[in-house]
Amino acid sequence: MNDNLMDVCRVCGSRAIAYLCDTRNEHSETKTLSNFRCEICGSVSVGNIVSGEELGNAYSCLNTRAYYEEIHAKNLNKMAEAVQRLKSAVHFETSFSIMPVRCVAAQTAKR
Ligand SMILES: [Zn+2]
Repeated sequence: MNDNLMDVCRVCGSRAIAYLCDTRNEHSETKTLSNFRCEICGSVSVGNIVSGEELGNAYSCLNTRAYYEEIHAKNLNKMAEAVQRLKSAVHFETSFSIMPVRCVAAQTAKR
């Protein structure tokens, strides 16, 4: 676990955070990211304190095509599961279809 870590939740500010695990980082000079879960709000976040410059460099160097190819199959499964849950949760007497999220985002962006 890294020494330069937040001691509060990034979302709610609670000190009730529990260490989960370390993950390897290949996008900036901080090579090990320590992940924590807040016992109050449930959010999971990276606890490492990194500079804005490091974050900017990490995101500007990210190969987004490779990144999204890596998670493409998992995202498709998550979306399919979300659609099934919505269909079972929403009961309309008339027929309707659920518009994929990216279509909604594209429609919103056009306005
Ligand atoms: Zn929290």
